[in-house]
Amino acid sequence: AIRITNLNKWYGDFHVLKDVNLTVKQGERIVIAGPSGSGKSTLIRCINRLEVHQKGEIFVDGIELTSDVKNISKIRSEVGMCFQSFNLFPHLTILENCTLAPMSVRGLSQTEAEEIAMHFLEKVRISDQAMKHPGQLSGGQQQRVAIARALCMKPRAMLFDEPTSALDPETIKEVLDTMITLAEDGMTMVCVTHEMGFARQVADRVIFMDKGTIVEENTPDEFFDNPQHERTQLFLSQIF
Ligand code: ATP
Ligand code: MG
Repeated sequence: AIRITNLNKWYGDFHVLKDVNLTVKQGERIVIAGPSGSGKSTLIRCINRLEVHQKGEIFVDGIELTSDVKNISKIRSEVGMCFQSFNLFPHLTILENCTLAPMSVRGLSQTEAEEIAMHFLEKVRISDQAMKHPGQLSGGQQQRVAIARALCMKPRAMLFDEPTSALDPETIKEVLDTMITLAEDGMTMVCVTHEMGFARQVADRVIFMDKGTIVEENTPDEFFDNPQHERTQLFLSQIF
């Protein structure tokens, strides 16, 4: 579970996150929406310490995130992340991409790591590409590998930052289907996405951010059919 209380972050003088409060229970699926620059990426990057905050608290499974280096590596291995750009290692095979961290961080043997990697590559339906390099795969295939790679660490939660934004319309669906499968398996997920169909189908709650604050938080049905906040109504009128 993830618990964020009164989170504040500044980039220099710029107050990017203002008193953000958010709790994500184990197994819950959260979609974060909001206009460009509202702080969505910054928020989820704070959860796995790609960014540091100045005020407030973030707990992941009861561990408070501080500057403690031991905690950072622990949190990074418990919270998987997928980005818009897939960030696979280009010089490694798909299989090697998936076994690297489990071997070096979790201390698994190569045999164990490969067994787990093949399991998750099968799960994202790409095990037949295991010996290829990332450059030989399509964008959608690379993103599915990135998801499998994160899953190989057996994370307790997954963070997604616009995982389909860099993809062709035809390949978006294969990545969304992978994410839906993950949700059905009970994974705790926090997803920044513009895919509102996905939000409606999968999210337990939709969070709407604007200018560094959460302005609305609701079930998908309420969020889309009966938005409360003026800013949310404007946002929805622009995307539908
Ligand atoms: P988008 O939908 O475009 O991805 P976002 O909601 O993810 O937007 P963030 O990337 O979190 O927004 O950025 C929030 C604000 O903080 C923006 O105004 C951005 O310019 C600013 N910002 C982001 N990263 C930095 C940085 N490293 N240094 C200074 N300002 C930053
Ligand atoms: Mg962003």
